[in-house]
Amino acid sequence: MKDVTITFHGYLNKLLPREKRGRTLRGELKDARSIKDLIEAMGIPHTEVGRVLVGGCTNPISAQLRGGEDIQVYPAFIDINNPIEEITLPPMPRRFILDVHLGTLAKYMRALGIDTLYENYYSDEEIVETALREGRTILTRDRGILKRKSVEYGYLVKSNRSREQLMEIFINFDLLPSVQTFSRCLRCNGSLKEVEKREVAHELDPLTEKFYDEFFRCSSCNSLYWKGGHWERMKVFIDNFLIELKAR
Ligand SMILES: [Zn+2]
Repeated sequence: MKDVTITFHGYLNKLLPREKRGRTLRGELKDARSIKDLIEAMGIPHTEVGRVLVGGCTNPISAQLRGGEDIQVYPAFIDINNPIEEITLPPMPRRFILDVHLGTLAKYMRALGIDTLYENYYSDEEIVETALREGRTILTRDRGILKRKSVEYGYLVKSNRSREQLMEIFINFDLLPSVQTFSRCLRCNGSLKEVEKREVAHELDPLTEKFYDEFFRCSSCNSLYWKGGHWERMKVFIDNFLIELKAR
């Protein structure tokens, strides 16, 4: 069977080994296989792929290859450090489940009011099953999870710094309209409700009772929040983040 030629565009090149970037590559077809198989064998999860052109015509990524085709592969997402290409973002759920390495990102997303499931004990199987069952997009730094057939919506987080990760997610999923600051529990993703001080007075230490008047309760895990030092620091972080996001 004849080999195919394949060209990756935009940031997809960054997911390839250095010596393969920015070139037309030869794809070996040992057996009859799909475009998805070929792309993933080269290290790129199918969830990162937007439009696929075969001989100049749009094709589904599941299309089978016969040999000899010319394939052009475009990214599904924007490279926030080099946003030159206009991309039509795929319709993906704006509800998320994060892998075990993204705890800080999860906290930031919850603070901004984005529906974000995260536990540090989730297995890959649990993440994939929960995403399917609840219609969530998987956010991960692990390409392996995203290569699974049953993964419908996923995003490979590019940065290893949590603030930049947050920026990637907000730009690629257009989350600014969904922001509801401090509406979710940072510990469990539950929704926060304001409670009267007198209802919670017996739970407070004397200094908290003396200095704070506004209190919020998580409706899922019962955690109590008030606008203390942690809250203030998170608020400064969020305010700065939103200013930078709106300026982009
Ligand atoms: Zn909670």
